[in-house]
Amino acid sequence: MANNILAFAESRGGDLRKVAYEAVTAARALADATGGEVHAVVAGPSGITAKAGALGTYGADAVTVVEHPAFADYNPEALAAFVAERAKGGGYRVVVLIASAQGKDLAPRVAGKLGVPLASDLTTIRLDGDKVVGTHPVNTGKVIATVTLTANPAVVSLRPGAVTAAEKPRTARIETAAPAGDPAASRVKVTQTIAGNTAKLDLGDAPVIVSGGRGLKAAENFKLVEELAAAFGNAAVGATRAVTDDGWRPHSDQIGQTGRQVSPNLYVAVGISGAIQHLAGMRTSKTIVAINKDPEAPIFKVADYGIVGDVLEVVPALTAAVKAAKGH
Ligand SMILES: Cc1cc2nc3c(=O)[nH]c(=O)nc-3n(C[C@H](O)[C@H](O)[C@H](O)COP(=O)(O)OP(=O)(O)OC[C@H]3O[C@@H](n4cnc5c(N)ncnc54)[C@H](O)[C@@H]3O)c2cc1C
Repeated sequence: MANNILAFAESRGGDLRKVAYEAVTAARALADATGGEVHAVVAGPSGITAKAGALGTYGADAVTVVEHPAFADYNPEALAAFVAERAKGGGYRVVVLIASAQGKDLAPRVAGKLGVPLASDLTTIRLDGDKVVGTHPVNTGKVIATVTLTANPAVVSLRPGAVTAAEKPRTARIETAAPAGDPAASRVKVTQTIAGNTAKLDLGDAPVIVSGGRGLKAAENFKLVEELAAAFGNAAVGATRAVTDDGWRPHSDQIGQTGRQVSPNLYVAVGISGAIQHLAGMRTSKTIVAINKDPEAPIFKVADYGIVGDVLEVVPALTAAVKAAKGH
C-alpha cells in the first residue's frame, strides 16, 4: 500500500492561496499516520516556483511545480491532466484538494481521469487501516455522513477552513515539471475574470467573518458590520440571503446553502435568525458568536457565545471592545 500523500496547492494570480497551506496541512497529518511523504503540486505562471518553498513550512517534503503562461488563470483541462498524471506517477495513498470554487471544479475532473470515486467537501479526514474515512455534512448540515473510501488513490476535497493551516517546517525538494500536453491548446479558456468581492479578504480566506442579517434593519446599518470587521483586522463581511435579495449586499457575500460555505475560526452572526439554509453555510465554523434580540432565535442553538440584545447597540460596543483589546 502506498504511503505518500499528494496535495494540490492552489494558486491565483501567481500567488499561493491560503487553501494551498490547508491542503498541505491535511496531507501532512495523513502522511504522519502512514509514515510517508507529502508531495505538493503547484501550477502557475512564470515566477510561481519562487513561492513553492513556502509549502515546506507546512509540511511538504517535495513540491512539483509547472510554470506556463496558460496557468496564469484557472485552466481546468490542463490542470486536471497535470494533477492526474502526478497522481498516477507517484502511487499515492490519498490525493487532497480543497473544495474552493476552483477545487470543486478540479477534484471531480482529477478523480474522473484516475477512474476513482471522489469524496467531496469533507470536514474531517483520517486513515483507518486500508481505508480513508471522512465526514461530510448533508441535508443542509443537519446530518453528518461518514464516508469510507477503499479506492487507490482516494481522491478527497476538504471544505475550505475545515483544516487550519499549521506550520510543520521542513526544507521541501522543489522539482519543476512539464505540463501534461499543451495547456495553451485547452478547449476551455478563461477569457475574463470579474472580481465579485472587492474586499481585501475573500470569505474563503478570512479567519474571521462578521455576517449581517435582516436584524440590521437597513442597508446603511451594515456599516456597523464593516466597522466590527475592520476592528478585527483579519475579517471579511458576509450576509444572509434575505439581505442579498434585498440588495443591501452583493450576492457574492451570501453565506448558506445557495451561497458560500465557510468554516472560519470565528463567525459573528449579527441580526441573523439562523434559518437552516443559512446554517448550512456556516455551522462548521470553529467558534460562533450570535447577536440577536430574540433569545429563542435558532442561531443560538449553534452558537458558542450568544448576546441577547439590539444589534444597533451591541455591535458598536463590541467594536469598541475589540479595538481596545487590539490596542487601536
Ligand atoms: C431554497 C432556499 C435557499 C436558501 N438559501 C439561503 C442561503 O444560502 N443563505 C441564507 O442566509 N438564507 C437562505 N435562504 C433563506 C433563509 O430561509 C432565510 O430566509 C434567511 O436566511 C433569513 O435571513 P435573516 O436571518 O437575515 O432574516 P430573518 O430570518 O428575518 O431574521 C432576522 C433576525 O434578526 C433579529 N433581529 C431583528 N431586529 C433585531 C435587532 N434590532 N437586534 C438584534 N436582532 C434583531 C430577529 O430576531 C431575527 O432573528 C434560502 C431559502 C430557501 C427557500
